[in-house]
Amino acid sequence: MNASTFNNLPLQRRGGVLHLLLFVLLAACAPLTTDARGADPTSTAVMAGETAAQPASGFEASPHPSLEPFRFVLPTPGAEPVSGWRPPLYPVPWAVSAYDHFYFIRPIAADNVNWPLAEYRYGGVFFAPDVIHTGVDIDAAEGTPILAAGPGTVVSAGWGLFSGAADDTSDPYGKAVVIKHDFGYKGQELYTVYAHMSEITALVGQHVETGDVIGLVGSTGLTTGPHLHFEVRMGGNAFYFTYNPELWTSPPQGWGVLVGRVSGEKGNLLYYYPLEVRPEPSGVPLRRALTYAQGAVNSDPYYQENLVLSDLPAGIYKVTINYKEKNLQTWVEIFPGQVTYFTFTDKEGFQVVPPPKPNLDFLPITPTPTPPASPPP
Ligand SMILES: [Zn+2]
Repeated sequence: MNASTFNNLPLQRRGGVLHLLLFVLLAACAPLTTDARGADPTSTAVMAGETAAQPASGFEASPHPSLEPFRFVLPTPGAEPVSGWRPPLYPVPWAVSAYDHFYFIRPIAADNVNWPLAEYRYGGVFFAPDVIHTGVDIDAAEGTPILAAGPGTVVSAGWGLFSGAADDTSDPYGKAVVIKHDFGYKGQELYTVYAHMSEITALVGQHVETGDVIGLVGSTGLTTGPHLHFEVRMGGNAFYFTYNPELWTSPPQGWGVLVGRVSGEKGNLLYYYPLEVRPEPSGVPLRRALTYAQGAVNSDPYYQENLVLSDLPAGIYKVTINYKEKNLQTWVEIFPGQVTYFTFTDKEGFQVVPPPKPNLDFLPITPTPTPPASPPP
């Protein structure tokens, strides 16, 4: 479907919504007690739901208001679905198409929130303008069991994942575990990383099965509250080899994943660019998304994406972008357990077509390391 313009996004009432979003973000960052989750009306999910229930706010609102006391930059928040319940996940490995690879379970059990925090997605920027997020964050209470996302061997357990020094208790990952999985992808090794743990129960060299407890959620390392930082690494166990975990962890049954490649003039990827994804026929905004920021993140070898939104119930969604001072939109259909792919280019606007089929030498691209400006959150 081709892009068309429209100018009817209501632009009023941003202020109140923005304040709500600020609160949501702070709630997500701050240390939360168990009581602050679940049914408690102040929980992140419920607050996000109230946000989603607001009239369309327009996503042109200033994306980077500064929060001086916390010294980090506010990303454009993404409202989450109102309900805290999601269907059980598809069994792993899950791959409807030849190019998908939902090989892992979520590292937090389904009786807890086990999906990525909307504000802390892969490729996001927070804490500083130049710190890019190389994983996803899952909001979980201190002490929540952390599960192996797939079978493999523990190759690292303890402090020093970023710095390489085992006794470095200032390491931003805190207490962390790395599993080298029993399977790879197209001949490349696969690893998963679990960071900020309060306690590690796995030992280096130990073989674990999918779902085995490897430690407990904590807030060690560079974090403002208990949560699990989860990474997927391919082709090497290093900071530069991460890929978006939302393309590797099994979706809830009946739900799908939206993947996009958003580029501008000359075909360059648009960095940290806001889009809005809302279900039809409802006009209620459901998700705001940002493309990856520029930095130490990698696109999937097939999709070459810079935007992923997982956990979308199957159905029709309207995707909008404000580009060159015009609101452009398209509609996409999300299918159960599948990836829906779109591109946005300067010349052609939106196109909802799958990427070209890869040829025989289709292989993951080895990331080109660029020195990180700062350690990851
Ligand atoms: Zn994180």
